[in-house]
Amino acid sequence: MPRFTGKTVIITGSSNGIGRSAALLFALDGANVTITGRNSERLEETKQLLLKSGVSEKQVNSVVADVTSSDGQDQLVKTTLDKFGRIDVLVNNAGAAITDNSGATGTDQSLDLYHKTLHLNLQAVVEMTKKVKPHLMKTKGEIVNISSIGGGPHAQPDFIYYAMAKAALDQYTRSAAIDLIQHGIRVNSVSPGIVSTGFVGAMGLDNQASQNFYDSLSVRKHCIPAGMAGNPEDIANIILFLADRKLSSYIIGQSIVADGGSTLVLGLQADMKELSSQ
Ligand code: NDP
Repeated sequence: MPRFTGKTVIITGSSNGIGRSAALLFALDGANVTITGRNSERLEETKQLLLKSGVSEKQVNSVVADVTSSDGQDQLVKTTLDKFGRIDVLVNNAGAAITDNSGATGTDQSLDLYHKTLHLNLQAVVEMTKKVKPHLMKTKGEIVNISSIGGGPHAQPDFIYYAMAKAALDQYTRSAAIDLIQHGIRVNSVSPGIVSTGFVGAMGLDNQASQNFYDSLSVRKHCIPAGMAGNPEDIANIILFLADRKLSSYIIGQSIVADGGSTLVLGLQADMKELSSQ
């Protein structure tokens, strides 16, 4: 039998990228899924992808919502309970390195950008966790947060607020895990490195520029030793592993890094042969 049959999963940010892939894998593995995002067209693409892959319409609850709004969060919880009657897994995946058009860099970036960035990448996770907690207590469920290697320990001056939000999210994962395990709820996270999704498009790069970005990183060993950007499915598989109590029950409050080796290298030492061949 598929391993998530009878379970219900809310995946925020499933109108694109990693969330879309996770929604597909959960649904193909038997779960009922609530898919969501602000962009109705892209959300419909996710829904159609699921249906074309053989998922039944009965398994899908599609909600256009902004996860930073209290009403949007309430809608996610309410419609999920109305349609499926329970919540077993919350995947806090929605996130972005929001940019503004001011051209400001580093510490000159605005406080408005700071608030927006932390609201999406951190506060919305805290709020969704509070709202879903009573339902996960009933099912002894799981939370999987999507963090980023951008959370540290390396500096990220260009995306200073995004990196701060993800660093704080890592501490929230650890602390919430210890608080919630007393109720039988497990919390863990995944920290992706570079993954080819809509992420850089959401920062304002067009398709060609996004492709150039991923291609250039892939040929630089000091950026991605594995020699390629990850696929959404590389991360989605880890999300499912952490949501599957049979496979990962003894993992509590951890973050699994999946980055093609990026965090293990310094430009200084990544390719000694190349550096010394001049
Ligand atoms: P995508 O841009 O492809 O997907 C982001 C998703 O988040 C979209 O579905 C988007 O939906 C949703 N989202 C953004 N803002 C909001 C909002 N205010 N309300 C509701 N939904 C929102 O990027 P990824 O799939 O790459 O990102 C998924 C997660 O992975 C994020 O948390 C990101 O920080 C993390 N990550 C990604 C990396 C990468 O290289 N791709 C690296 C490290 C971490 P919509 O636009 O429809 O609202």
